[in-house]
Order: sequence, then structure tokens, then C-alpha cells
Amino acid sequence: MSKLSWLGLVFLFFFYPLQSVKCHVDVRVLLLDDFTGTFSVVLESDGGFRLFDPELDSSKTVPEKSLKLQVQKGRIFVNGRRLRNRDIQIEPVAGDTRLGENCYQGIFRLVVRKERAYLINRLDVEAYLKSVLRWESWPGWPVEVNRALAVACRTYVINKVLKARRRTESLWDIGSTQAHQVYKGIDAQSERLVQPIADTAGVVLVDSQNKVIEALYCACCGGCTPAWISGVHFNKARYLKRQYACKFCLKTIDALWQVTKSLAIFKPLLGRKKHLTVTDLRVGRDKAGFIRRLQIKTADGVWHTIKAASLIKQIPDIRSLNCAVTVSTARGVVTFKGRGRGHGLGLCQWGAFGMAVEGYSWEEILAFYYPKTALAPVEVLPS
Ligand SMILES: [Zn+2]
Repeated sequence: MSKLSWLGLVFLFFFYPLQSVKCHVDVRVLLLDDFTGTFSVVLESDGGFRLFDPELDSSKTVPEKSLKLQVQKGRIFVNGRRLRNRDIQIEPVAGDTRLGENCYQGIFRLVVRKERAYLINRLDVEAYLKSVLRWESWPGWPVEVNRALAVACRTYVINKVLKARRRTESLWDIGSTQAHQVYKGIDAQSERLVQPIADTAGVVLVDSQNKVIEALYCACCGGCTPAWISGVHFNKARYLKRQYACKFCLKTIDALWQVTKSLAIFKPLLGRKKHLTVTDLRVGRDKAGFIRRLQIKTADGVWHTIKAASLIKQIPDIRSLNCAVTVSTARGVVTFKGRGRGHGLGLCQWGAFGMAVEGYSWEEILAFYYPKTALAPVEVLPS
């Protein structure tokens, strides 16, 4: 894309009027949920804890530096003492809280609903970003990448918060795994991400209706054109319908990859037919190159249709469904030649890295990957 076209993109980016977005600025992150009845975790804080019972509206401070939280048969136990209620909030008297190998800011809530236990961490969005960027990005990357990612991750979480708070029964806003954004607390590396987050503090991406977008991102788009990916509701998310290819990630480690596997690896996908020998495999791909249909042939001559997403679950080496497939029935193997890592939509992290190296700013990076969007400040609502 020429620099001239870039001017057009940047113009579009700032074309919309800069209206603020009203939002709560705390986020409730689901750390763990359990329905087996054997829930048990230990929280540690050197200054002890304050326990708050939301049903009785009462609180007390306990000197213990370590709290063992358990749920058995739907009842909560704290250091072996059974609580009257099935809901408790826990706050360190000072500093942060350790959970396993990780250190967390904010307060915790353990709640049991319908025999299922939920451990939730509630904290300020900007503090939350310190952890998310630690795991979703890399502290040593150029600062423009981390500024762009800070805005993308903030936008993504605020989109989730706004959706969750519309449902009064929702206990949490966002998960802590790769299904949403990886959130595993903070460590010494997190401090290196404070500045890019502060540089973009309170800024989110909005669409032409001034709505906070669902700012998807992936590790590497493999040079794809997302507008050609099938099955995406682009009418609801025009900002994901990038109609031009990303060329900034093509020389990076995830751009091209190849995996060869035995056909037998697909047997578990056949359910009750998994005892049969797999003899062939064929796929259907969309215009962008992503596998959308997967069929497996068994020794009895029957073709079985399998969900394409099952491929990645079954073979984690497959980094993206954007891949060509070659089957050797004689050798009983299949080769996947793929491009990129992830779903290919929204910001391409390796592409953002490439753009930053070439001198583009974080605003230009966001404008490239989220067309027809604008930046807007967040206006704080009381929690
Ligand atoms: Zn890319």
C-alpha cells in the first residue's frame, strides 16, 4: 500500500467525531470455575486479608497471611471454617495477592451458584492491562506495538464489560484464557509495559456508531485478506472486514509452516467409528484459504463430516486453519502447508511488529488493522 493510500486511512481513522464512551473501569475476570465439588485454592498476602460478606454487608480483618479457600457440596470453607453464605469477597490489607506462582492486584470473590464455584478477580482495567499485555505481547517489542496492543486489549475488555453488565445475573465480564485474553497476573516483566499503557490510557476504538468494537487480534494473519474469510458477520463488524492483505508479517516465524501427520491421528474425531482405519481426508477452503469443511474417509468407504475447528484441537501443531492439505494415501499421511497463527481477524501482532519496525505509529497500525474506526476516550461510570 502506498503512503498516499495511508493518508486516506489515517483520514478515515480520525474522521468520526471524538465522542467519549461511558463505561465502568473495573473488570471482573473469571480466574477459575469448578463444578466437580472439589474446588480448592490458596491466596497469600503478607499483610493479611479483609473478608467481606455481601449478603450481611459486614466485613472483618483476619491476620492470616494465607487463606485456603475450599468449596465442598456447595458450601464455602475458609481455612477450614464453613461460611454461612455462599458468597465472599477477599481483599488484601496491603499490596497484592499471590495465587499459585502468580501475583494479582484488586479484590477476589468466591461465589457458589447452582453448585458451581467461581473465583473472580476484580480490578481496574488499566491494572488488568498490565497483566494481559505481559502475556499477549512481549515487553521487549517496539513501544509502538505495545501502544497499539494496549488500545486493542483495552477495547476488547471494555467491549466485554459493556456486554456483561447489561445482564444483571452475570458474575464476571471476561475469562482469563486464550478464549478471551490471557490473564495470569503480573511479574517483574509487567513493569516494562506500564509506559505504553499509560501513553494510551483510557483510549478505545469505536465504530461509526460510537460503539466500542470487538477488537479481535491474532498472532499472525499470514498475509490474509480478512474480508474473504467466510462465516464472519461482517455486517455487524465492518471494522473486521479488512479488504487488503497484510504484508508486514510475511517474513516472521509464523508466516509459513508445514506439518505432516499420520491419517490415524484423526481417529478420535470419529466418535463411535473411531475403531475404523482412516484412509483419506479432504477439505473445503474459503476464498481467504481457511479450511471450512473437513471430511474423513474410513475403511468402510464412508466419508464423515467433521467440524473444521476440531483440527486445531486434535493437532495443536496446526497454527491456523489457513492451510492447504495434501494427502498421501499410499503412505497414510497428510501434510498441512499453512500460513499464519490464529483466526486472521483484526490486528495481526507480528504484522504490527513489522509496521513498527518500518516506522509506523500506533495510530497508523490500528487504522490499518481496524478499518473505519476512530479513537475515543472512556468516561468513567461508577461501579
Ligand atoms: Zn499479518
